[in-house]
Amino acid sequence: PSSTEAATEESAPPPESETPPPPISLPDKVPYVLVGGGTASFAAAKAIRERDPAAKVLIVTQENYSPYSRPPLSKHLWLSGDHAAAQQLKFIAPWSGGKLVDLFYNADFCKVGELMDREEGGIAVLTGTKVVGMDTKSGSISLAGGHVISYDKCLLATGGRPRTLPLFSGEKVEKHVSVYREIPDFLTLDQRLENTKRVLVVGGGFLGTELAVGMATRYREGGLQVYQLFPESGNLGLVLPPALASWTLDKVKKEGVEVFPNVTPVSVEPESGGVKVTTSSGIELTVDHVVVAVGLWPNTDLASSGQLEVDRHLGGFRVNAELQACSNVWAAGDAACFYDPHLGRRRVEHHDHAQVSGRLAGSNMAGDQQKFEHQSMFWSDVGPDVGFEATGVVDSSLPTCGVYPKTSTELLQEGGAGVDDYSKGVVFYLSREERRVVGVLTWNLFGKMDIARKVKGLYVKFEY
Ligand code: FAD
Ligand code: NAD
Ligand code: NAD
Repeated sequence: PSSTEAATEESAPPPESETPPPPISLPDKVPYVLVGGGTASFAAAKAIRERDPAAKVLIVTQENYSPYSRPPLSKHLWLSGDHAAAQQLKFIAPWSGGKLVDLFYNADFCKVGELMDREEGGIAVLTGTKVVGMDTKSGSISLAGGHVISYDKCLLATGGRPRTLPLFSGEKVEKHVSVYREIPDFLTLDQRLENTKRVLVVGGGFLGTELAVGMATRYREGGLQVYQLFPESGNLGLVLPPALASWTLDKVKKEGVEVFPNVTPVSVEPESGGVKVTTSSGIELTVDHVVVAVGLWPNTDLASSGQLEVDRHLGGFRVNAELQACSNVWAAGDAACFYDPHLGRRRVEHHDHAQVSGRLAGSNMAGDQQKFEHQSMFWSDVGPDVGFEATGVVDSSLPTCGVYPKTSTELLQEGGAGVDDYSKGVVFYLSREERRVVGVLTWNLFGKMDIARKVKGLYVKFEY
């Protein structure tokens, strides 16, 4: 069971505390300080303890929850069918053997106030606390409220916050608009939808697409109309080649979502107790609520006090191949812009990357000196007919080559004549100049990432 300073019962999901927890006696110095309480931090904490079994690790997170995984927030909580359980953050997952599980990571966390007195060390989570500054010369972080904690080693795993669009600001509009990333966002949106007839999702990326399908599925019986708009020609169009994006769009429609591709919102005004959104093509949609899902801003506020470099193009703390930003400071997960020895500088916003980069950073913090060479994977599920996994650079603006075995066993150039059944297949992404494979996506084929990494070998020139 998850347990933090804020949690009251071992077995209950850690609640968002309504009454402030009793004052915690904060340590002045902790050997390992991890800023951020997401997947990357949690993976790092475990790796540190594996290599240094008596390590004292403090995770500081501004969220009021102990570390949890975000993927169920746009999938299982909406799709698993048990409404009441979902409001308790519980769901039945394919991996749970029919039992209700929650999204929290299990660990035997100790209390913050006891961490420094434990000979055996431990991992403590300081929730509801923002780190507002860091001094990388003396090796310390400052918390909101003024307390300063010195560290020997520090991890920045601050993730990101949802991007917004200026159009959706202003007092009269804002109350009908939300973004989506954390547990309270699920709880609030889900409760709101019980009395909502029309909801609009702006954005056609991973979040917008999974969430649109999730909401349409969960509230199918209640007559909720879900609309989705985005600038690409099909769902997930920044990642999928056009034919697969348009195939996915059809599947999203089949799940009950009314989709408007090739448009952006151009004006928003209050109307009928909700808002009227006008699109670049002149369509007017009057809805009760809008969810804006237009990407992520990596959280790099600490770069300025810490005198750390942020990548000008990709965002994120710039780290080397060992995930180190400067002496005694590492970064991992969504907030890290790392050097991939095979594919160059990258920043990856996915769960498995947060796990593997967090693990490697933690191991290096505890004395290892490994390079980050593992190619992480990611997956997405969009309704019952679309699921895919991918590794490497998966960007639809690159040349792609798709193989769809239902129609042909030969390599066919994406969109080539005769390829019209996209129910299953593999897409290879090629680098612009050298035409070598830099990414592989398996479409409704699962568990093939180890092979994909080999195919990619990355390094063979791909002739076709
Ligand atoms: P985060 O999970 O964002 O954690 C960072 C933490 O740091 C947050 O708790 C934040 O509040 C805290 N923080 C930030 N700044 C400070 C500060 N100054 N002081 C204290 N705390 C701070 N990926 C997939 O591969 N597959 C999926 O199916 C998938 N589904 C997703 C569904 C949803 C709804 C979302 C939002 C994301 C999904 N992702 C998925 C992406 C994946 O969850 C992220 O890549 C992953 O969470 C990144 O982990 P992280 O630890 O780097 O950052
Ligand atoms: P995204 O980058 O995947 O997609 C952004 C979408 O917003 C794109 O369709 C883009 O064209 C659109 N957009 C940008 N500006 C716009 C504008 N002015 N008007 C309309 N649309 C606009 O980001 P996301 O879908 O918001 O996801 C947020 C984060 O959550 C990302 O880090 C993502 O990787 C992560 N996530 C991942 C998964 C997964 O891996 N399966 C699932 C959910 C969320
Ligand atoms: P899933 O898609 O719900 O799980 C996604 C991944 O998250 C899995 O790798 C799972 O092991 C992992 N996971 C485990 N615990 C988790 C947690 N607490 N929070 C978040 N993620 C957790 O379920 P799955 O059926 O196990 O999927 C495995 C893979 O197969 C995924 O990549 C998925 O896209 C794919 N898939 C397979 C099928 C199929 O028919 N076999 C159908 C859809 C998707």
